[in-house]
Amino acid sequence: MGRNQHDVVVVGGGIAGCFAAATAAADGLDVVQLERKSREWGGFIACGDAIKSPRDPSKYPGPIDMDAIADDEAVLVDNNIDRIEFWDEQLGVRKALPYDESSNVVDRYEFGQRLLEQAAACGAKQHYDTVVNEVIQNGRVTGVEAVRSGEPVTYECDVLIDAAGAQSILQDLIDFEALETPGDPTFEVPHYTHFGSAYREIIETEEPVAYHDAIVGKPLEELGYLWYFPRTPTEINVGLGFQMNKEPIPLVDRLRRDLENRPEFRGATVAEKFDEKNKLGSAIALRRPLDSMVAPGYLAAGGAAGTTHPITGKGIRGAAYSGYSAGRAAVEAVEDGDVSEAGLWEHNRWLYREHGEAAKLAAWDAYNVAASSIDVNVLRAVTAVLPERELREIVGTSMEVDGLKSKVLVGTGVLKNLVAEYRAGTFERLGVSNGELYEAILTVRKTRNYVSAYERRYEAYPEDRSSFERWLSARDRIDREFYRELELAPSDHKY
Ligand SMILES: Cc1cc2nc3c(=O)[nH]c(=O)nc-3n(C[C@H](O)[C@H](O)[C@H](O)COP(=O)(O)OP(=O)(O)OC[C@H]3O[C@@H](n4cnc5c(N)ncnc54)[C@H](O)[C@@H]3O)c2cc1C
Repeated sequence: MGRNQHDVVVVGGGIAGCFAAATAAADGLDVVQLERKSREWGGFIACGDAIKSPRDPSKYPGPIDMDAIADDEAVLVDNNIDRIEFWDEQLGVRKALPYDESSNVVDRYEFGQRLLEQAAACGAKQHYDTVVNEVIQNGRVTGVEAVRSGEPVTYECDVLIDAAGAQSILQDLIDFEALETPGDPTFEVPHYTHFGSAYREIIETEEPVAYHDAIVGKPLEELGYLWYFPRTPTEINVGLGFQMNKEPIPLVDRLRRDLENRPEFRGATVAEKFDEKNKLGSAIALRRPLDSMVAPGYLAAGGAAGTTHPITGKGIRGAAYSGYSAGRAAVEAVEDGDVSEAGLWEHNRWLYREHGEAAKLAAWDAYNVAASSIDVNVLRAVTAVLPERELREIVGTSMEVDGLKSKVLVGTGVLKNLVAEYRAGTFERLGVSNGELYEAILTVRKTRNYVSAYERRYEAYPEDRSSFERWLSARDRIDREFYRELELAPSDHKY
């Protein structure tokens, strides 16, 4: 059996893995990145391929040169996207939500390959065809066992970075209770209902689509959405995802049914470039980022840490900055010779307090919790009624509706839409009563207040390990109040 000793082992050759490996290696650590796929297919995964602000260094920090990647025409295939369009075709509802940041569609294969090349250029060793199937621990995580091109190999390390994606197998393998922590472990393995299941195909149409400069979302019969994200006017990434706390939807059949009803997809074929590899499904984290992403000798990043937008499921950006943060925290901990929970705490602190976007994602999860508590038809009626500005807030992570003037404007927008949808018979068609609609609009409004309350709590995330329990119990109090407000039975509590 082969044996390797490294400062840092990164499991995963995706976005989080590349940002983590590049960051730690660029700072001089001995880093090995393990990826079960081959070199040829490394970095290629199921994705809608939509990415925001690729050139913004605050969103993509660290040594990976995102400008070089964004300049590569093979990577940024659609540079043109300026809005999200929400369509509820059955109701005749169409809303356009303009983007205030640049948004693009990437070729996920080329993007993944460029990231791997850059991580290697920063000094990370990369072992492909390497499937991690066991974690070694002894008070702290000390390494992994894997099968590399058919041969068993042991990798020992000071810090293991888990960048193995949503529903990471490493989290099932580690016995967190057996690790040496001052109190209960701060790391908690997420429940399967905190994930979504998603599938996509890349297809070619005969004629250009009219929405080549927008990304399009449509509601499903369960909480989730179906998308058309154009890579070019004739090459469209089409897919769908739903949350696993609801009845499962047969994804492939449901997508087929949808495409058959759209004239632009008649005669469309699966794009030839990667043939069968263009049809892909995967899990997606639809929860708030983990309360703590560290354990002794262990850091989680990206899908494995839940840094995905809890409503839209977009996680490229979260994987990038949380990967960077994990690499950075590993460097500090190895240099200090302290890889305990407290020694690795910098990862949590930076993400929640200094960078802050993880705090926003955690706060925005309240919209996911509220949406799960509302019947899908009522939710569709509410979406028809809410003005673009308020919808944009829900699928983004910034309060659009601040100030009295804005609130009055939004209120007027709701009234206007209500009248229009009553005239169009929308609520009758959905079988939604006035009372249900009123209650649901009220729920969205109340949820806004909880989003603010969560945001304030996460902004006060503990600077160090010692005050975590106190912080957590105050955060849990907000959970309890919110669930009470939503009248959720304990079995329906998300956390
Ligand atoms: C269908 C779909 C559509 C999506 N659309 C979008 C979108 O449009 N925009 C957006 O921003 N986000 C989107 N997302 C989410 C986004 O893809 C993820 O949030 C992001 O890829 C997470 O990156 P990651 O590096 O954490 O994990 P991943 O990209 O999943 O990478 C994990 C890597 O670890 C490897 N690995 C796993 N287990 C092992 C093991 N045991 N041994 C060795 N290697 C292992 C995998 O092979 C993989 O390469 C979508 C997700 C899905 C499923």
